[in-house]
Parts: sequence; structure tokens; C-alpha cells
Amino acid sequence: MLLSNVNFVEVRETELPRPDINVLVLNFDYTPLNIVQGRRAIVLLLKEKAQVVSESVIRLRTYVPLLISRTAKEKPTKAAIYRRDNNTCQYCGSTRALTIDHLVPRCKGGQDTWENLLLACSKCNTAKGHKTPEQAGLKLKRKPRPPLPKVVEIVQKSTDPEWSQFAYRC
Ligand SMILES: [Zn+2]
Repeated sequence: MLLSNVNFVEVRETELPRPDINVLVLNFDYTPLNIVQGRRAIVLLLKEKAQVVSESVIRLRTYVPLLISRTAKEKPTKAAIYRRDNNTCQYCGSTRALTIDHLVPRCKGGQDTWENLLLACSKCNTAKGHKTPEQAGLKLKRKPRPPLPKVVEIVQKSTDPEWSQFAYRC
């Protein structure tokens, strides 16, 4: 695209991302929304739909309601729980003899949902039995929840500080 063809050029050409790099698109509230090719980011900037945050990060000028990841709407599978919990017991951090635990036991009405299923090693699972974690003296590392959108995962794992600085907003 020729810059001279655009009516309003608020962004200086030197500030534009390179067309061949990946650019992180932040929502208006700075939460990671998407990753696009530099050329797509340039279009968003020139159309004044976004503004430059840094060389590889742009931010939308209006808030776009977050799309819940497709996986989050689906019933959790065993493999998906393992992936979300990073193959670690959510009580003690062990990576051995893992089982799937119901936070609220099935006998007490616990469902097979993202919020109620988590990985536990057989030791913790046995200790927990039909009790709640508090009753069993177990401490959860983090509350089970639906998997994060892919873009959030990428930003959290990114070694590029330009991107990773936005991970805490997820
Ligand atoms: Zn454990």
C-alpha cells in the first residue's frame, strides 16, 4: 500500500511496524487480543483503528468485547485438562501419577466442568478423598478455569519483553 494514497496519515512512516513481523494487537484496555502480520497492523494504523504502542505492539482505539475461546465453550476433555494444568498436580506440583480430580466431589453434586476438574497426583487425590481441599488440608495452586485464548498463552510464554509486559493483564 502506498502511504500517499491514504487521506489521513497520523502515524509517521518510521513508526510503522515492518510488514513481515508479527504484531501483538491489544484491546483498548491493553489486554492481548490477537496477533497479526505487520502489514495488517499497518492497515489498522492507517485507518486510525489502532495506535502504536511499540515496534511490535499496537492498541485498538475502541474496546472490542473479548471472544471467549472456542475451547472454553466445549466440554473439557481429559487431554485438555492435562494441557491447561501443565501436567502438574494442582495441589503439590508433582508431575507423577496424575489423575483427574473433582474439586467438588461428584457424590456432592460436582460437575465435569472447567471450574471443577483439575489435575491431582494420586497422593493428593487420595488425601482429598470426598472432602473439599480445605477439609483435607490441601491448598490449590490456582483456581481451575476455562483455558485462556491462544493469544494470551502466547503472550505469557513470550520472551520478548515488548509482548510479555502485557501478560499480567490476562
Ligand atoms: Zn499432589
